[in-house]
Amino acid sequence: MDETQLIDKEEKLLIQRAYRELLKCIHSPLNDEDRENIRNAYELAVEAHAKQRRKSGEPYILHPIAVARICAEEIGLGPTAVVAALLHDVVEDTDVSLEDIYSKFGDRVAMIVDGLTKLDRSYDSDSPQAENFRKVLSTLVKDVRVVLIKMADRLHNMRTLGSMPRHKQLAIAAETNYIYAPLAHRLGLYNMKTEFQDLCMKITDQDSYQEIARKLQETKASRTAYIDKFIVPLTHELKEAGLNFRITGRPKSIHSIWNKIKSKEVSFEEIYDLFAVRIILDVPRRQEKQACWQVYSIVTDVYRPIPERLKDWVTTPKSNGYESLHTTVIGPDGRFVEVQIRTERMDEISERGYAAHWKYKGVSDAPDVYESWLDNVREILDNHETDAIEFLNDFKTNLFNEEVYVYTPAGDMKILPKGATALDFAFMIHTDLGLRCTAIKINNRLVPMGYRLQNGDQVGVQTSKNQKPNESWLKLVVTGKARSKIRTALREERKQQGAIGKETLERKLQQLKVELEPNADMLVKHFGFRSRLDLYNAITHEEVNLHELKKFKVDGQKLIPPSMDVVQETEKVVEPVHPTTFRKTTPPKLLINGEPADQYDYSLANCCNPVMGDDVFAFLSSSSGMKIHRTTCPNATNLMANYGYRVMKAEWVQAGSASFKVDLLVTGIDAGPGVIERLSQRISSTLGLNIRSFYIDGDEGFFEGKISLIVNNKDQIIQAIQALKTLDGVSSVTRVEST
Ligand code: MN
Repeated sequence: MDETQLIDKEEKLLIQRAYRELLKCIHSPLNDEDRENIRNAYELAVEAHAKQRRKSGEPYILHPIAVARICAEEIGLGPTAVVAALLHDVVEDTDVSLEDIYSKFGDRVAMIVDGLTKLDRSYDSDSPQAENFRKVLSTLVKDVRVVLIKMADRLHNMRTLGSMPRHKQLAIAAETNYIYAPLAHRLGLYNMKTEFQDLCMKITDQDSYQEIARKLQETKASRTAYIDKFIVPLTHELKEAGLNFRITGRPKSIHSIWNKIKSKEVSFEEIYDLFAVRIILDVPRRQEKQACWQVYSIVTDVYRPIPERLKDWVTTPKSNGYESLHTTVIGPDGRFVEVQIRTERMDEISERGYAAHWKYKGVSDAPDVYESWLDNVREILDNHETDAIEFLNDFKTNLFNEEVYVYTPAGDMKILPKGATALDFAFMIHTDLGLRCTAIKINNRLVPMGYRLQNGDQVGVQTSKNQKPNESWLKLVVTGKARSKIRTALREERKQQGAIGKETLERKLQQLKVELEPNADMLVKHFGFRSRLDLYNAITHEEVNLHELKKFKVDGQKLIPPSMDVVQETEKVVEPVHPTTFRKTTPPKLLINGEPADQYDYSLANCCNPVMGDDVFAFLSSSSGMKIHRTTCPNATNLMANYGYRVMKAEWVQAGSASFKVDLLVTGIDAGPGVIERLSQRISSTLGLNIRSFYIDGDEGFFEGKISLIVNNKDQIIQAIQALKTLDGVSSVTRVEST
């Protein structure tokens, strides 16, 4: 009996229950036609996927139902999206064709399903993820729902990733981290972004994830008690003021706690803001701003605020639509507590993002943040010149970053991505202003054109009609718009310059009584250029010795170059730069794709220095063979996201006599000249480890040391860190993630 064919009675009930739950989750009102469409889509999908099962063994149809439910429940999408989500895998995986979908559900649904199918296909191929990302974004500008459903699909897959092989989990996690989490953030889906990040961390950094989860659990009771104590007087005052509100206190995400531990180099216990208190008001639209500030005033009457921590996204929403008033106050026992003040509408937008935004569209006269963002997306997509990787970088800098708010001399506010320069500002205002920019004043003081804008800067641009951009300008801008305009201008300039060189060449050839056309390609090759334009430009700038033409033989209309040995080598050969690798004397016991790694020419990546016992993966690099990275390596995400198909599973099998280099960063308060001695004493005598190098630096009572050790495995690193931490005067010991 073929078990994949069989869906038993119990499973049938399970499927029907999932479907009923889905219907309950649809928020938008449904008419009869909507109901019928959803029913038909469900039945078609059940039928089409009848023979499929997921890796976990459950009937496949449960997946599209779950995806549709995420669309309805967590993103707040309507019936069209629910229908498309139910059908999202049928064209790709079953006999149902796109024409079938079109004739049964119309062109909108067919278009969305088509977009989803194309996105899926691109993941099977060897095309780098950057190219896939361009596809994701092209569908985004056509109908945002394609990408929203794709994100729901990814979310459900991430939630149920357990049955996938490890290397696939890593590749999917990396791509999610690289593309989908930032996209979710950009589309205002905060809950989804947070969940993506937590799920990714759970895969790539299991130990830290579990540790934080455990500590959160352990401290839950005392945290709840504290939140209650904090809330009581607030609730009283807010009620007194006659406000309609609800108040919650919830822990921050594991990923964001982890980020803080790493970036601030503190322990879990030292993080003061493990949670945020949120006050959500129920007020009419017109009273929102006033009500939020009234609450702010009440909160800060009860608890003393820290003024620098006030963030007002009510007056100026973030460009992904986020609105909220954040402040940090000093609560009972002197603890810092972040308080977020917002209305029900703002809260819904912060959770459902784009979909909720549409619901309230037209109610506000504020500029449409998503529309202007989508315009930006279109602009970058239209710029076909950039290659895929550069395109992706453009996106990362331009569309996912936080922003900086600056002003024109007339006082108009402009929003640019964080990191944007003064020259970017000029191009943002107008292309001509950018191209003719000669100087820029910030708050009336001259600054370099590459000056990085700060919040509140007032920016004045000076121009001259004789100004022209040059190659170096490309380094002074970060926005896609400025870069593409500069490129276009430079290309235009090269064409004009090339025309001069071409004329010069034609004159020379006339003296030899031959035409340019039949000889042009031969000359390009002879002088070692890649294109005619390159050759003509070099001639203009007198970088080519045209006297050489006299040595050519003339045969009718054809020039024949002199014998090969006089041809000068013009092409520069660039030696690929190989990173120096640390090869072990005894190879460690490592398996790649389940087979002994010795058969591969592999080496340990020196960006993250993995050691025996670390969670690792193998990556086939294009220039230097197989590399073993730690899954927490800062480069890992980028590698896996862009070249997921080159990732292979790797695992340590047994401890051998292998030795690895590891770098530890030790900081502490200066304990006099004895500190080096005590550190090295502890390492070599107590732990019996070899020190490869030791570098220490310090002043003003503080020191920072970098110690390279030779260890056999990860346990020895943990022992070393613990042993060094207990030394007098040492305040932190961490393993260096990347060098
Ligand atoms: Mn799917």
